[in-house]
Amino acid sequence: MRSSSVIPNHCQRGHLYVDLGAIRANVLTLDRLFKAQGSSTEEGSIYAVVKSDAYGHGAVAVAQALTDMDEVCGFAVATAEEAFELRENGIKKPLLVMGHVFPYAYERMINEEIAVLLFGDDILEALHDLGVRLGKVALAHVEVDTGMSRLGIGADEQGLLFMRKASGFSHIRIEGIFTHFAQADEVDQEFTRRQYREFVAFADRVESELQMKIRYRHAGNSAAVLAGVEMLLSFTRPGIGIYGIVPSAAVQERMEAKLEPALSFVSQIVMLKDSRSGTPISYGSTFVTEKETLVATVPIGYGDGYPRCNNGGEVLVRGKRVPIIGRICMDFMMLDVTGIEDVAVGDRVTLLGEDKGERITIEDWSRQSGRYHYELICDLNQRIPRLFGIGGGL
Ligand SMILES: *Cc1c(COP(=O)(O)O)cnc(C)c1O
Repeated sequence: MRSSSVIPNHCQRGHLYVDLGAIRANVLTLDRLFKAQGSSTEEGSIYAVVKSDAYGHGAVAVAQALTDMDEVCGFAVATAEEAFELRENGIKKPLLVMGHVFPYAYERMINEEIAVLLFGDDILEALHDLGVRLGKVALAHVEVDTGMSRLGIGADEQGLLFMRKASGFSHIRIEGIFTHFAQADEVDQEFTRRQYREFVAFADRVESELQMKIRYRHAGNSAAVLAGVEMLLSFTRPGIGIYGIVPSAAVQERMEAKLEPALSFVSQIVMLKDSRSGTPISYGSTFVTEKETLVATVPIGYGDGYPRCNNGGEVLVRGKRVPIIGRICMDFMMLDVTGIEDVAVGDRVTLLGEDKGERITIEDWSRQSGRYHYELICDLNQRIPRLFGIGGGL
C-alpha cells in the first residue's frame, strides 16, 4: 500500500478501519432525536447495543470509546459471554443481556452486576436462589412481548400475574421493563405505535395495580428513533444506527438526521496481469474477458466475510469504481482495472468506505449480494484485523 509504512504488518493484506469518532457522533445524534420526542432523563438516553461484536465493529473498542459519554447509560448485548468480555475489559457501566441466558451463567452475572432478561418462572426461581446463596441481589429487566413473539411475558393478565410473583422475590431487583418493535423499519408505523401503547399501558398497570416501582422503561431500536416514533421512556436501545448505518430504505426516507458510517474495509492489489480477450477468470470460468483486460488480484475473499456474489460488485481503486470479475474466492477476488491511470501493485483497494469522494456503502454490498445489510457486517469475521481511530482511516 502506498502508505504501508504506517500500516501494521498484519493489516497489510487487508483490514477494517473503525472510526470511533463517527460512532460517538452518531450516539449524540440518536440521543438528540430520542430526547426530541419528549423523554427527559437525568441519565443518558442511549443504551448502546454492542451485540455480535458491535455489529462487526469490535465490541470492546466501541464500548471503551463510548463509556465516558453521559449520553450512554449502558450497553446491551445478546449473550452472557459478550457481557463478560466487556467487564473483563474494564467496562463498568450497566450491562444488559437481551438474550436468553442459560443458568450456568447466572452466578457470574450476579457477581458482575450484569442484568438478566427475565420472562419466566424458571429464571425467577433460579436467580433468586442463587442470590440468596451469594448474599447478593440479581439485576433483571423484564421483556414484554407486544408483537415480536420471540421472548417476553404477555402484556395481559398472565403477564401481570408473573410480575406480581416476581415482585415477591427479595434477591431479585427488577430494574427495567421493556419491549421490542417488530416493524419500526417499515413505512407504516401503525404496528409500532400499537406495540408502544400496549407496552406503556401494561407498565402503567404494573405500577398502579401492583405498586411496583420499576426504574426504567425502554423500547426502540435505531429505526424507531430515526423515524421519530414517539417514545416517552427512560432510554432507547439503538444498534445499527450507532455504526452509522440506516436500518432500511423506509427509515432513510423519513429521517432528517445524518449518520456517519464508521466502517471502512481496505486491501491492496497484489498482482496485475494483462489478459487477452477470451481469458476465463476464477472458479467455474463464469466470467470470460471480451477484450484485452488488465486484471488485478486482491487477497480478500468470502473467508474474510466479504459477500460472495457471482460476477458483480464494485470496489474503489484510485478513487474510481471498478468491477469485480469472476467468482469471489475464499481468499481472493479479481478486478478489471483496465483504464485506471497509473494503477500499480500495492495500490489501495477500498472494499467499503470512501476514496477520493467516491464511496462504497454497506447498502451497495446488500444490492450486489442480495443479502441483508445487518447480516453482512456481522459476517466480517475475526480473520480480518480491525484498526481503530478517530476520523478518516490510514
Ligand atoms: C438488536 C436489538 C436492538 C437494536 O436494534 P437495531 O435495529 O440494530 O437498532 C434493540 N433491542 C433488542 C431487543 C435487540 O435485540
